[in-house]
Amino acid sequence: MISVLPFSEEGKVEAATRFVAWLEDRAIAGARGDAEEVSDVDPIGKFWLGRLGPKDEVTKSDGRGDRLEPCAIGIRFRPAVGKSKFSIAISARAWSRKRNKEGDRPWLWTKLPAIAFEVNVDFPDGADELVLGVEEFDARFKAIKGDGLMAEIRVVRRRYGTNFVLEATLVNTSTPKDAFCDGRLFECWLEVRGIDSIPFELDSLPDTFRYDRRVAAFGINCGVSPSEGALSTSDAPAKTRMRPKYWASSSPEPDISFQRLESDPIAPAAELTAAFESWAETAWSEKVLEARRIAERWTPAMTKEASKAAALFHDELKRVREGVALLEGDPKLRTAFSAMNRAMAISASGKYDRWRPFQFAFLLANLKSLVNTDEESGVADVVWFATGGGKTETYLGLLVTAAILDRMGGKTSGVTAWSRFPLRMLSLQQTQRFANALAGAEIVRRQMGLAGDPFSLGFLVGGTATPNRVRKDKGRESDWDVDQVEDMVNPFLLIETCPFCRQHSVTTKFRRGDWRLIHECSNRDCFSYGQPLPIFVVDEEIWRFLPTIVVGTLDKAANVGFQPGMRGLVGAPWGTCSREGHGFTYAIRSDRPNGCLVPDCRANRAELPMPEAVFAPRFRLQDELHLLRDSLGAVDAHYEAVLDSIQLHLSGRLPKILASSATLSGYEKQVDVLFRRSARVFPQPPPEDGRGFWTSESDDLMRRYLALAPRGLTVEFAVDRLVITLQGCVRRLLDDGEAVCAELSISSDYNPFLVSNYGTDVVYGNTLRDLDAVMRSSQTQYGAVGSALNTASLTGRTDFEEVRATLARLEKPEDDFSSRVHLVAASSMMSHGVDIDRLNVMIMLGLPLGVAEFIQATARVGRKWPALVIVVPKVARERDASVYRSFPEFVSHGDRFVEPIPITRKSRRVLERTISGMEIARLLLLHEKEAPGPLTTPKGLNAWLKVNPDGLKADKAAIAQSLGLTDRDLFLLDELDAWFGGFARNLREPGTDVRFTSDLSPNGPPMMSLRDVEEQAPVAGES
Ligand SMILES: [Zn+2]
Ligand SMILES: [Zn+2]
Repeated sequence: MISVLPFSEEGKVEAATRFVAWLEDRAIAGARGDAEEVSDVDPIGKFWLGRLGPKDEVTKSDGRGDRLEPCAIGIRFRPAVGKSKFSIAISARAWSRKRNKEGDRPWLWTKLPAIAFEVNVDFPDGADELVLGVEEFDARFKAIKGDGLMAEIRVVRRRYGTNFVLEATLVNTSTPKDAFCDGRLFECWLEVRGIDSIPFELDSLPDTFRYDRRVAAFGINCGVSPSEGALSTSDAPAKTRMRPKYWASSSPEPDISFQRLESDPIAPAAELTAAFESWAETAWSEKVLEARRIAERWTPAMTKEASKAAALFHDELKRVREGVALLEGDPKLRTAFSAMNRAMAISASGKYDRWRPFQFAFLLANLKSLVNTDEESGVADVVWFATGGGKTETYLGLLVTAAILDRMGGKTSGVTAWSRFPLRMLSLQQTQRFANALAGAEIVRRQMGLAGDPFSLGFLVGGTATPNRVRKDKGRESDWDVDQVEDMVNPFLLIETCPFCRQHSVTTKFRRGDWRLIHECSNRDCFSYGQPLPIFVVDEEIWRFLPTIVVGTLDKAANVGFQPGMRGLVGAPWGTCSREGHGFTYAIRSDRPNGCLVPDCRANRAELPMPEAVFAPRFRLQDELHLLRDSLGAVDAHYEAVLDSIQLHLSGRLPKILASSATLSGYEKQVDVLFRRSARVFPQPPPEDGRGFWTSESDDLMRRYLALAPRGLTVEFAVDRLVITLQGCVRRLLDDGEAVCAELSISSDYNPFLVSNYGTDVVYGNTLRDLDAVMRSSQTQYGAVGSALNTASLTGRTDFEEVRATLARLEKPEDDFSSRVHLVAASSMMSHGVDIDRLNVMIMLGLPLGVAEFIQATARVGRKWPALVIVVPKVARERDASVYRSFPEFVSHGDRFVEPIPITRKSRRVLERTISGMEIARLLLLHEKEAPGPLTTPKGLNAWLKVNPDGLKADKAAIAQSLGLTDRDLFLLDELDAWFGGFARNLREPGTDVRFTSDLSPNGPPMMSLRDVEEQAPVAGES
C-alpha cells in the first residue's frame, strides 16, 4: 500500500502526475467499456476502442470511410534467427442482448464472461501462414452460448526489406447476429510471449547520430507495449515527455539574477561559460564522439553528420565566450547590458528574478550583433526552443540592450526593432510582455538621464483590430472617423494592465488636440500618471512617433507599396512638424501640405532631430518562421528584399534578422529564400536526445500523449464521449473528492488545485467545420455531464474582444466551478502565444497538417503542470493513419519527421503579384523625397523621369538584384521586363481611367496585404 501523499507545494507535481494517469485510465476504460457489465444502450453505438468487427462484414465497402472498424489487431515483429517458438495469449469480451423487463428501453445488453487463453506456436521453417486457436475459441464461445461468435489467431510470415517478419493477429471471424452486437468482439487484446525479437530501425531520420532509432515492434490497427520478453497490443499508443530542466552541469548554477548582473555581468558570465566548456568536453569532444561511433556502430554518414554538428556546436561555444570578452572590453556595452538587467527586473515585477542559463547564453552569443553590425547583419539568427519557455524575454533582453545603447549613442528617437508575427491575430499576452519590458526600460532611461523620446511600443497589425488612421470624415473603408471613435468606450484598448504599475487601470480615449488615440493609467501613484502611456496603436501614429519597438503582423509589410509613412520603418522620415505633438512628417500630398499626418495641419516642416542614417532599425524580427511557407513565404521573400534594399540605400546598413522557429527542418534554405542571409541556430540541438546543456530532461512529467483511434464510430463522436468522460472525472472530484483522492493516495487538500488545473478541456480542431461540430455537440450532447458545460471559442473567427475576455476568464477563473469555462474549442490561432497555466487537458481532433503545428498546439497545455494530450486521429486519412502507426516515435522525434518547408523566391507567378508593390515602394519611400514633386500621379512621375531618365531602368536592375536573380532566371527576368515595359507604355499613353501611378501597373495595384495570395494554390517550391 502506497502511503498517502501529504499536501505541500512540492507535492503538487506528484499529485497532478497521479491525477493525469487516473484521467488517462478513465478515458481509455470509458471508451472501451471496461468497467461496465450491463448497458441499456447498444454497445455498438457506445464503445469505440478495443472492438473488432466481423471480418466479412467490415471488409465490405460501404463508404463509411470515417468510421473504419478493423476485424483484426496484432503485432509485427522480427524474431531472432532460429527463434520460431513462442506463445500467444489473447482475451476478448462479447455482449449479449435480452428483452428489457424494467425501464423504458426495450433492450438490455449484458457483458458475457471473458474469453482468454494462450496457445503455443512453433512456426515451421518455410511456412507462410499458421491459423491457430480456432477450436479453443469455438469451445469457449459455446460455453458462454455466444451463437455465431468465432475468432482465430493468425501468424503470417512476410518479407520486410531484406528480412522476414512475423505478424501475429487476432481476427474476428464471427457471423453477424443481432443478439450479439452483430458479431462484434470487445476489449480485444493479444500478447506474444517468450519471444526473442530484434528491434526495427527507423531509417527515415536525418542526422541520426542524435537519436535512438530502434522500435521494438509495430502494431497492426493498434499500438504495441513491449515488456520483458513479451509484446502486447495496446489500444492507446502513448508517449511521455518530461519537463525540461535548464541546467545540466554538475557544478552549481551561477547566480544570473537580474540584480547580480546589474552590478556585475562579467563574473557570472565567465562562470557560466566555464561550466558550458567543461560540459562540452563530456558531450562534444572528439574523444567522446569517437567512442560513441564505435559503441553505437555509426555509419560513415552518421559520423559525417556528427562532425558537422560538432563544428556548429563549437561555433556556438565560441560566440558565448566572445560575448564575455565584449562585456569586459566595451564599457558602453557593459553599461547598457547592466541597465537592461535592471529594466528586466522591473518588468518581471517579482514574478521571476533571473535568466534561465540558455537565455543568458543567447544574449552573450548575440552581443556581437550590437557592436559589429556589418558582419552580423549577414546572418539570420534563429532561436529554436522546441520545448518553449522564455523566448520572448530572451529577445527582449537583446532589444532593450540595443535600445539603451541607441540612446547612449545619440539615437534619440526612431525604431530599434520591428517584430512581426505571421498571423493576423497577434498574441495579446505577448504584447503585454513587450509593453512591460519597455516600461521597465523607460524607468531606467530616466534614472540614467538619457536624452531622447520615451521608450515606446507600436502595434501595427492588419485586419480590423486597430485603425489605420482616424480622419475627420471617413474616406476609405479602412479609416475611422473621429466621431465614431469618440462614441466608443475605451476605443482600441490594447492592454488592460498598466505596464508601469500593473493595475487594471488603463483606459483609452481620442484626444483631438494632438490627434492621438491615447492609453492612460488612472492610478495616481503610477510612474506614468499624468502622461499617456507610451503605446501607439493607430498606423499613422506609429509613423508620426516611430516607437522604439514595433510589434505586429507580417501582412503589414505590404504597406510599403502605398504608405509613405512606412519609410520610418526602414529609414528616416522627411522631417518633423513644427507644431508640438504632431511628430514626424512624410511625403507631401494635397491634404498634407507639409507632410504632417495630423488633419488640416498647416505648420512648417522642421529638421529631423538626428542624422538620417541613424533612423533605420537595428533589428527585424520574425516570429514563427516555420509558418512562412508556400505562397505566403514566397510573397514575403519579395517584400523582405524590398525592405532590405530600401533600408540599405537610406541608412547604409542592413538590419539584423532574428527569428524563432518551432522546427529546424530545412531552416537554412528557408532563411536563404526569405532573407538572403546565412542561418545560425541557437541553441544547437544536443548530441543526444534529451541530453543537452541548455535543456535536458528532468524527472517531472510534462505531457502524456495518447492516441485513441475510434473504431466503428466517428471521430466527432469519440471526441464528444471523451469530453463527457473527462468532465465527469472532474465533477466526481468535486462531488466525491475524498474517494477520488483515496484512489490516488493523495491528501484531499489537493482537490481545489486539481479542479482548477484540470477542469477546462481544450478541444483543438484543424478545421472550423470540426470545431463548429464540437460547439454544436456542446449544446446537445453534454447533458450527460450532469450540470451545464460552459464553452468558449478561440479561433481565427473569434473577435478581438471575445479573445481578450476568454483569456482573462481562463487566467482568473470564477470562484464557483459551475461558472467557469469548461471547454475551449480552439484552432491554430491558439497555438501561438496563449500561455495559461490552467490549461492541462487537450483533445486533438485529427492531426494538424504540419508537425510544427502539432508541437506548438500541444505546447499550449502543460506549461506549468503535468498535462494530458489525447489525439483522436482521423485514420481514414493516410497521414493520420501513418502517424498513428508510429505514434510514440512521432512524439519523441516530432521535429525529425517534419517535412521540408516548401518555399521559393523564384516564382514567376508570385512575382506577378508582388512586382507593382515592389516598384511603387521604391518610388514612394526611396525616390519621392529627391523628386521635384509627388510621385503618386503620372504627371509627377514624368517630372521625376525628366531629371532621372534612367530611373525605371535602374529600379528594374535593383529589384532583380535584390531578388538575387541571375542570367539563368530567364522567366523572372522576362516578367520584370514585361511589367516595366507595360508600366512605361501606360505612362506614355495613359488610359482615361488612370489617375494614380498605381493605376499604371499592367497587372493591378500593389497588394493590400501579404495575405492576399492565400486563397490561391500553394506555390510549388523547389525543395
Ligand atoms: Zn499605471
Ligand atoms: Zn503638424
